[in-house]
Amino acid sequence: MRLKQSFIKTLRDAPKEETARGAKFLSRAGYVHKELAGVYDYLPLGLRVLENIKKIIREELNRIGGQEILMTTLQNPELWKKTDRWDIEKMDIWFRTELAAGGELGLAPTHEEPITEMMKTYIKSYKDLPFSAYQFQTKFRNELRAKSGIMRGREFLMKDMYSFSSNQADHDEFYHQVEDAYKRIYERLGLGDCTYQTFASGGVFSKYSHEFQTIIEVGEDTIYYNADKSVVLNEEVLIPEVLEELGVKREELESARAAEVGNIFTLKDKYSAPLNLEFMDQDGQQKPVLMGCYGIGVSRVMGVIAEKFADEKGLVWPENVAPFKYYLIGIGEAGLSKAEELYQGREEEILFDDRDLRPGEKFADSELMGIPYRIVVSDKTLANGQAELTNRATHETTLISIDQI
Ligand code: ATP
Ligand code: MG
Repeated sequence: MRLKQSFIKTLRDAPKEETARGAKFLSRAGYVHKELAGVYDYLPLGLRVLENIKKIIREELNRIGGQEILMTTLQNPELWKKTDRWDIEKMDIWFRTELAAGGELGLAPTHEEPITEMMKTYIKSYKDLPFSAYQFQTKFRNELRAKSGIMRGREFLMKDMYSFSSNQADHDEFYHQVEDAYKRIYERLGLGDCTYQTFASGGVFSKYSHEFQTIIEVGEDTIYYNADKSVVLNEEVLIPEVLEELGVKREELESARAAEVGNIFTLKDKYSAPLNLEFMDQDGQQKPVLMGCYGIGVSRVMGVIAEKFADEKGLVWPENVAPFKYYLIGIGEAGLSKAEELYQGREEEILFDDRDLRPGEKFADSELMGIPYRIVVSDKTLANGQAELTNRATHETTLISIDQI
């Protein structure tokens, strides 16, 4: 991508309500544009980051047999009445709207109800089970507070996966596969070292659910862990019975601020019973399908990565999610024409700063944007057949031969 042709301009100031460092940089570096509190547009660089995150998630979920779908945003209130989640008293985060033809619709905050209803068309017998389906979809939630940039949106991108099984053993097996897939996902996203699978409350039907929590100063949650982090739990389950069961004492636990980047739930028949999603079992009986749901906050993950790795100069993207691998600058006549030559055919890997700006401004923007490697070709380096290669994360600069590039 050429910066000269791009409409993106780096900005001196972030929107004034933005408080966190990463959130400010995402705006200033032109990754996102804020429409309203909790409502963001993704610009070319930001969209590339989102797509890279989605690609990693998609690859890992496909590996465990997930089938990708795309469901609708508009929701039929009748389904949500059956599970007692249409009432604002029960679900206070609804955005709801009137139909011109009369009646109401909701904007999906999640998709358990519609996918359960949809599967009634496709699940008849135990032979149809088990399987899982997932989507990347925009969710709408009327969150009371939306002050953490893209980490808490009123409109945000979620990956939600749902599993359907005929028996507990099949459900458990898939649940464990998702646990492993999530570990690989956070590892590949660059968050492996600071993300923990955390015990959380599981509601009525299973004892625990699990959250995936990334330790980060600006996180909205608090997690508790023992020294080797083999036991990590969230605030909801920090109660004597649970501590006893997990074999830890309160005074052995330290706390840290964290952001919930994903979660996995055993639902049993919580949705299939009220919505009547049943199958004919081997014994000839009709039984409710056992379900699980598995979320990842895709846009929240982007915000968390931005926040986690930013330094005083700007964003620092891990290579796997960076919008481009290289930021290319040519200085002087020969340097510029060599840069042009290097850029040819590598438009997907290189963000080429071909703007008519002073080198200092280009250096500053390359740091603000957080592209992993900066290549500077100048008349001076070129005299020795070389270019400068700078690592954004370590600030190390080395000279490499042009041929090596
Ligand atoms: P939270 O406790 O942060 O509100 P939640 O328990 O409501 O999250 P789920 O409904 O299970 O979360 O959603 C699945 C995932 O979607 C969460 O783990 C989180 O990563 C992400 N998520 C939830 N709410 C938001 C939001 N308002 N903006 C961005 N991401 C979100
Ligand atoms: Mg929530």
